[in-house]
Amino acid sequence: MSTQLKTPTTASQTAPGRDAVADVVRDVIEDIRRDGDDAVRRYSEKFDNWSPASFRLGEAEIQDLIAALPTTVVDDIRTVQANVREFARRQRETMLDLEVETEPGVFLGHRHVPISASGAYVPGGRYPLTASAHMTVVTAKVAGVERVTACTPPLRGEIPPATIAAMHLAGADEVFVLGGVQAVAALALGTESIGRVDLIAGPGNAYVAEAKRQLFGEVGIDLFAGPTEILVVADEHADPFVVAVDLLSQAEHGPDSPAVLITTSERIARETVAHVEELLPGMSTNDMAGPAWRDHGEVHVVEDLDAAYRLADTFASEHVQILTQEPREALDKMRHYGALFLGEGTCVSYGDKVIGTNHVLPTRGAARYTGGLWVGKYLRTVTFQEVTDPAASARLGELCGRTARVELFEGHARSGDVRAAKHSGAELPW
Ligand code: NAD
Repeated sequence: MSTQLKTPTTASQTAPGRDAVADVVRDVIEDIRRDGDDAVRRYSEKFDNWSPASFRLGEAEIQDLIAALPTTVVDDIRTVQANVREFARRQRETMLDLEVETEPGVFLGHRHVPISASGAYVPGGRYPLTASAHMTVVTAKVAGVERVTACTPPLRGEIPPATIAAMHLAGADEVFVLGGVQAVAALALGTESIGRVDLIAGPGNAYVAEAKRQLFGEVGIDLFAGPTEILVVADEHADPFVVAVDLLSQAEHGPDSPAVLITTSERIARETVAHVEELLPGMSTNDMAGPAWRDHGEVHVVEDLDAAYRLADTFASEHVQILTQEPREALDKMRHYGALFLGEGTCVSYGDKVIGTNHVLPTRGAARYTGGLWVGKYLRTVTFQEVTDPAASARLGELCGRTARVELFEGHARSGDVRAAKHSGAELPW
């Protein structure tokens, strides 16, 4: 049994509908497909009021921007990138190449081969999301991607210097100040001035996520990493003030960001709601967090933690924070989440900004079928085979001849037949 103490409003006043977004995105993509750079510039002017002589920044311009930043900003970027790089490197080490001899003289294997060129979309419409540069550029480079092209929109008409620094220090080969659908489409399709990439990774708003969805197939994508979500599972041992602070830490991403609390304690539920209401007016990001909480905030009270985990799984939320006495039990009890944050010692903000796990994570239920961005997304697992024993080749040839003919594939069958004939002396049946 569960009680819902706070329900979201039925329709958000703030977010455009999915169909409206899809229509806008379709038009932009088709125009860029047809007109290349001209259309990119047109839409950058229209959506971002941004039309510099060149969208691409040169090395000297990047160095000037970095030199003008406080040294602590640059040092912190380096520290966080070291954390992200180290974890990605350790993950890369778990992806072993494989070669097995399945029977004498029959060798099968796989290799993990990096894609050649990736696009790193670093969002920046509302906030300069410097951390997304670490996640998409550092990780691609650890995987061995040769050309990484990074794009970020201007922030209220200005180049965001810390984001540019992060892209450059992460190892981006090309840096563009260009955002939204126009950046995603240019990366996917290629234009006169922007080279086509093989895969686009990075989070973004509903327009960016929809552009990736529509272009998927022509280009690879990491996953649908749209508007951020948080879900907190709390028992009676949680501190409701911490729960409230953490819910708002993600609600501030945008007015379409869901923040959900599932708790076994009615007291925690009531006190958390009271703290959220107290905290909101004093937050500088109340214009985002306020509507997000009003339109997408939910509080559920459930009987016990098993019921909490079951309900949490149905959300398949991007971030799930466990504030209970035994947080580690969620590792076994939960299945659907982008990332788990176990116990009060950590929080979603650590994952977003500093700790080293990747913050590009599935949203809108995509956690049911995918994890987040990681070094493996930049690698293609490709197979190979070799048969060095003529007798094994002959046996496989006979098997291939029979099985292919069941499927009426005469050509396939003959490839088996010739090997069987060559290596075992059998007559060709045709
Ligand atoms: P953004 O860079 O994603 O989008 C900004 C761009 O949107 C602009 O450059 C503009 O070209 C385009 N745009 C805005 N309004 C438009 C319109 N009406 N029509 C066409 N294009 C339009 O930056 P943002 O808006 O700040 O959004 C960032 C998003 O990324 C947030 O929703 C945040 O929650 C999400 N995020 C998700 C994750 C994740 O892993 N899932 C991580 C970090 C951030």
